Amino acid sequence: MKNYKKIITNIYKDLKSIDDPGKVANYIPELANVDENNFGIHISTINNEGFGIGDANKKFSIQSISKILTLTLAYKLIGENIWNRVDVEPSGNPFNSLLQLEADFGKPRNPFINAGAIVVCDILMSHLKNPKEDFLTFCRNISNNSSLNYSEKVAQSEKKSGFRNIALCNFIKSFGNIKNDVDAVLDFYFYTCSLEMSCKELSEIFLYLADETYTNNKNENILTTSEAKRINAIMLTCGFYDESGEFAFRVGLPGKSGVGGGIIAVHPNEFCITVWSPKLNPKGNSYKGMLFLEKFTTNTENSIF
Ligand code: GLN
Repeated sequence: MKNYKKIITNIYKDLKSIDDPGKVANYIPELANVDENNFGIHISTINNEGFGIGDANKKFSIQSISKILTLTLAYKLIGENIWNRVDVEPSGNPFNSLLQLEADFGKPRNPFINAGAIVVCDILMSHLKNPKEDFLTFCRNISNNSSLNYSEKVAQSEKKSGFRNIALCNFIKSFGNIKNDVDAVLDFYFYTCSLEMSCKELSEIFLYLADETYTNNKNENILTTSEAKRINAIMLTCGFYDESGEFAFRVGLPGKSGVGGGIIAVHPNEFCITVWSPKLNPKGNSYKGMLFLEKFTTNTENSIF
């Protein structure tokens, strides 16, 4: 664990009561019910050591962090063919943007913007018998954690207010890049976003991206080294929408955010770290989460660069 405990504790104390200019997401009404003062951090190393502080064990809505899990399962199911349906280029646009899709003939720029994740969900719909159940089982199996679950409330709340996602899915379908029924794909997408996990659970589930030899307790290897490289590369270049450059610049790790205020970051061959603070900056990324991780890689002098 090197000196991580001390450094994490010190940054946690420094940031706990700062003036946070961020705002809790409220375009999904249910997300606005969270206590905005929650602040948790957890690190898990590939040697099975862990350390958490603050609200590290409270479950929250992981939202777009689930895009890594849906991509992982779809990649396992259809292999390299997946890149015919979704690209691997940074979009430089907000997570829910429709702008580039027309020029790109319905092929989303990457799997970590909403358009891309909706196409990934469509792929899963075509290959899974019971998509919601099978995806949940997949997530539970990765980290041997049977307590993982969707939030019915959050999924239903997003379903009622998901106008941009409904537009995105229909628009992509008009180009032929959605094969299943639009309502069914969206329903599945909303459920994947509603998954709830704590910082500790997130740091543990994403160890498969940090550890090439990771196997769950069924002795299953989640990804090959090459597949993990690719997912980490897309996280580094596309994990924070139109702030991906900024995150790489300030933090220097592959990562992924969600509008629930969670951020996970991976140091390949070392650890996975998660921060949760619900107040978001204007780009939809946790204000304190980004600040914490910037200080963490600066003070430990340990990023991928
Ligand atoms: N469920 C959210 C949405 O589709 C996820 C967005 C996010 O976390 N950036 O709008």
